Amino acid sequence: MNRVGIGTDRHRLVFGKPLILGGVKVESPKGATGHSDADTLTHAIIDALLGAAGLGDIGHHFPDNDPKWKGADSLVLLGKTLEILKNAGYEPVNIDASVHLEEPKLGRLKTEMSSKIADTLKLPRHNVNVKAKTGEGMDSVGKGDAVEAVAVAMVVTVATH
Ligand code: MG
Repeated sequence: MNRVGIGTDRHRLVFGKPLILGGVKVESPKGATGHSDADTLTHAIIDALLGAAGLGDIGHHFPDNDPKWKGADSLVLLGKTLEILKNAGYEPVNIDASVHLEEPKLGRLKTEMSSKIADTLKLPRHNVNVKAKTGEGMDSVGKGDAVEAVAVAMVVTVATH
């Protein structure tokens, strides 16, 4: 059976922090703050996958008050999410996601992000799609104060045990 899930995330942007999206370091004067590496795109994808499998959310599995996840590489968390899904009898099928960021333009970095996410999830690269939007100068994204991501994931139930 196929099941679908949605995930969203947003992080504050501040000067002097790295900006990591989909495991890719984006050259930018501002980066995202957070307990882990603040990889907004990967966090949204993790929530979409967990949601599709009916397994709660990222905060349940990787609490942001747990010192274990301080500065964590979110691709590692994504890999652990794949294990959580498999243990529950699910496999990811495909991911579609949008990043909302005013600047810089992500351009070909989108392909790099989707490749890293696909490789982590052991999916064909064309099964992970990353898109980019700006905030058109409005709201917190448009003012350059925040980065947001939205993701949809499909998973399929697999025969277990
Ligand atoms: Mg987050």
